Parts: sequence; structure tokens; C-alpha cells
Amino acid sequence: MKKIVALAVGIIAFSNGVNAQNESDAAEAAPKLTGLKVEAAAMVDEKRKLTQEIVDSLFSFSELAFQEFESQRYLTDMLEAKGFSIEMGVSGLPSAWWATWGSGKPVIALGSDVDGIPKSSQVPGVPYRKALVEGAPGHGEGHNSGQAVNITAALAVKAIMERDGLPGTIVVWPGVAEELVGAKAWYARDGRFDGIDAVLFTHVSDSMEVSWGQATGTGLVSVEYTFEGQSAHAAGDPWKGRSALDAIELMSVGWNYRREHLRPLQRSHSVITDGGDQPNVVPSKASAWYFIREITADHIRENFATLQRVAEGAAMMTDTTVSRRIIGAAYPRHFNKPIAEAMYENMRAVGMPDWSDDDQAFARVFQEYMKADEITGLKTEIEELAAPREEPKSGGSDDIGDVSWSVPTVTLRFPSNIDGRTGHHWSSAIAMATPVAHKGATAGAKVIAATMIDLLQDPDLVESAWTYYREEQTANESYVPFISADDPPAIDKNVEIMATYRDELRKYYYDPSKYETYLEQLGVEYPLLTGPDSE
Ligand SMILES: [Zn+2]
Repeated sequence: MKKIVALAVGIIAFSNGVNAQNESDAAEAAPKLTGLKVEAAAMVDEKRKLTQEIVDSLFSFSELAFQEFESQRYLTDMLEAKGFSIEMGVSGLPSAWWATWGSGKPVIALGSDVDGIPKSSQVPGVPYRKALVEGAPGHGEGHNSGQAVNITAALAVKAIMERDGLPGTIVVWPGVAEELVGAKAWYARDGRFDGIDAVLFTHVSDSMEVSWGQATGTGLVSVEYTFEGQSAHAAGDPWKGRSALDAIELMSVGWNYRREHLRPLQRSHSVITDGGDQPNVVPSKASAWYFIREITADHIRENFATLQRVAEGAAMMTDTTVSRRIIGAAYPRHFNKPIAEAMYENMRAVGMPDWSDDDQAFARVFQEYMKADEITGLKTEIEELAAPREEPKSGGSDDIGDVSWSVPTVTLRFPSNIDGRTGHHWSSAIAMATPVAHKGATAGAKVIAATMIDLLQDPDLVESAWTYYREEQTANESYVPFISADDPPAIDKNVEIMATYRDELRKYYYDPSKYETYLEQLGVEYPLLTGPDSE
């Protein structure tokens, strides 16, 4: 009985969306499309338990870039059991994988990131700082939720395709090492998107949103410089030494002076990855790792060339030698207009999750603890379809940019997190294994499933997506990747950190056979509305 009510509500919601398109030749196909979307939404609802288990499991694995092996095993085992064929370790990335089901056109590829953030281990559902494993990585961005969106949608649409004998191919792929923008440019370089008609990408947010054209934010080159000099006794005969660490420090000073004279839209930041061994040995080797971000590809290249000269200047001043290694790359993102418009209509039909009073109370307590500008609770309205900004705005990057220049692509931002958090921080993990994350992922899966149905059943959409890609997006700008044909992926990154923490984290892996939710396993009541003082 409940299901029939839900279907009826769904039909009303979806017919709003379709009518808004106002296309007379679509009128005949519209009721069938709407019916399939309503069915897919109902199937997504039926898979809520699976969605929650994926969200909670990936949260508990807490894996950093290039080391997403537990996530890989868990997700590929699941997809293989559901009939997908699996390719492991694609593009020279051992933790990557590619899952494919179906045959023929269109080929729809669903992507989402899976990696976490260093030192952001956090007990979920506790609205204040409480590490699960002190010092360990965690999901301080919320990348544990996107594969749940995609896989839930893929399984719902696959069931419909099987039942109705619909042609088409579904690909599910992971953004491994997104936090280091270390994989997608390599996938693109290796032709992983050849023959794919459209990419639907999903990313966690506190809102439901889709955009077209150039996205807000930057692209970047991530590069590590290594200087080599001469060691010597730092007190006995320091004049014999040539310090690689001096070069690192001079490079930093040089770049920081130069930053005053760069366009304000740039963002650049660095860490010293090797500062030498001990003070009484002049460091013969030292390394620093830079992110060079800008709004356009040309400006990124220009600033990278400036950084290179600063590095060479530092080497000259210290009589050391310098070499560099590309660690990551992200092209400025450009999203597809026709697909974004179709997705937006589906977002309007699906709407925001039906938050409970408990969810809202939890969000407000979290926002108070985080000293958020406004205590607004969880959002209840979707965002308007976002067109390109007239004035570009700086900010973060995502290597989905490289994908977006290879094939028509959009990113769905789905509402699994709470506004008021700090990015790349333990506060971004707090909601990510709670009902807020689960409901946001279910809503996102409905939008993805409906947009897959549009792509499967409306050949005009695929056609117009490619027309936009050819005649608008790439008419005056072409994709010239930041990585070369032989830059290897930086798969050695994070090996040591994961080796340090994995055994301890393993004690907290979510066991869905014993516990309904991860919160239950950890003994966290929901909603917990008290502060740290109550402990
Ligand atoms: Zn992200």
C-alpha cells in the first residue's frame, strides 16, 4: 500500500519535471520516460539499506589517496556479484578499477571519488571533535558517499534495462586519489573514456546542485621538487656542505615574494616532504610539494613556468641540482549544458530529502558547535541550475575537469553533509555516516537514475550533449593535458601513513552482518545533541 502511494506521489513530481521541457515531439515519449523514472525512484528507495551499508563501510575504511584497496575489494566484490565485469588496477593505479555491465549504446559512465583526508579520523554522529583513531586518516570531505549514490542508481536502472530489454552499457568507476588529483587525468590520457557517451559524476555537498559551463574554482598542477647537494658535518666543516634544505627554503621565499604579483584568482600552497635527516648533517637531499592553481589552463601553465624558474634560481643560489615530478593535475572543469538541464529537471522532481526533526536538531547543534555564520539546519530546497559565472571565482579543483574535456560530463552535488563545516577537516566527517548522509545519498541516486533513463531513452539528449561539446565547449578551446605521455601516477604516496594506521583502523571496520548501522556498532546514539563537556 505504501509503495502505491509513493508511486503516485512520484508520478506527480516527475510529470512536473517533464512538462517543464515544453517540447511537443517529446510529448509522446514523456509518459513512458516518467513511468520508468518513477519505477527507478521506487527501486532506489527499496535499496536504502544497501546505500547506507556502502556509505558506512567506506567511511570505516578511512583510506587515503592511492591506497583505497579495502574500498576497491568491497565495491568490486559487490559489483561482480551483481553481474558487472571488473577490471582491476587500470591506468597503472593498483587501487583503481572499472566495472562494466550491458552492451551497446549509449554507454553511460558513473564516477565518484573514494579517498579520505589525512588526520581527519572522527567518530561519526558526535557533533564535536572526537577522533576514532588518533592521528589516522578519515573521511574529512565525505568521499565515502558518492559510490553509494552511483551503485544504487546503477542497480535500479540495470533492473529496468533487463526487464524491458533496453540496450545500453553502464560503467561504474572510482575517482581514486582525488584529494591528490592523481588519477582522472591518467584515465583520460589512457583513453578510458573513449566510446563513452556521457559521464555522470557525483560529489558530496550540503545542497542539491548541478551546473553547466566553466565551474567555480580552479584547475591545478601538483608538482614535487627535489634538490640534491652535499652532506657535511654541520659543525666540523660546514663549508664543505651544499644544503638541499637551504634550496627548499629559498624556493619558498622566492615563490612567496612572487605571489604578490600574480593574479588574485591564483591559489598556491606547499608542504616540505623531506627536510633532511638531522641538524648536524647538512641535508644532501630535500623535497617540497607545490599545488599551483588558477582559473584557466593558460594561467596555470604560466604560473607553473614561473615556479620552475624560482626552483632553478634556488638551485643556482645553493649550488645544488633540482629535479621535479608531477604528482597530480586537474584541468579547469567545463560541464555539459544539455545534460545539466535534464538533470536539473530530475532534481526538481526528486527534491530534497525528507529530513526528520532529529536530523534538523543534529544539524543545528553541529552548526552551533562549529560557530557557523548562521544556524540554518539542513537545506530543504534544491539550488537553481547554475550557469557559468560572469566573474570567475577562485577555490578548489577536481580532476573531473580532465574527464569533462574528454566526454560530455556533469557533476551532481548531492546533500549528504551539513553547511557550516570546514573543508578537508574532521568536521566534514561528522555527518558522513549518519542518516543525513544516507538520505542525501538516496536522493542523489534517484536523480542519477532518472538522468540515466533520459540518456538511455532519449537519443536526442546524447546527440545534443555532443553538439554542445563540439560546437560550444571545444570550439575555441582545446584540451592540452598537464601530464605528459609518460608521467607515471604517484602511487607511492600515502603508503607509509596507511601502513601506520591500517591495523588500528581495521578494528573499527563496519560489520553490516552484526550491526544495523555504523553508529550502532560504535555505540553512538542518534541524534547526539550534547557537547564535549558532557563526556
Ligand atoms: Zn571531493
